[in-house]
Amino acid sequence: MKDYFPEEPFGCRCGCGLDALDPAMRQILNESREETGFPWIIESGSRCDAHNAAVGGAENSAHKVQPDGFTHAVDIRVFNPVTRGRMLEALQKRGIRRFEVSNKHLHADNSPFHVKPLLEATYFKG
Ligand SMILES: [Zn+2]
Repeated sequence: MKDYFPEEPFGCRCGCGLDALDPAMRQILNESREETGFPWIIESGSRCDAHNAAVGGAENSAHKVQPDGFTHAVDIRVFNPVTRGRMLEALQKRGIRRFEVSNKHLHADNSPFHVKPLLEATYFKG
């Protein structure tokens, strides 16, 4: 399968070098991206403790390193409700059962350390 994310967009955005996304999640993202046929912009992947706190992430966020040594979450940019729905559908088809949806991004993770299923919804103004 083609790697749709060759520029390593999954690393921590603070520059600390943390880049620990679960390879199984990366595979699911590639398969799902291929199925939808449009670009997926990864806005957040792995987060160190400091960066997670800086961006207001949950204390127990699946973006942080879990007991298996991997991070399990990504935030994908949302263009409109239809592409958001197609991303959700493709990810669900491959077993993803934890989502946070908003008008800005779709959070998805395959963390085995968090409760399932999860569907949180947020609306950001502006
Ligand atoms: Zn960091």
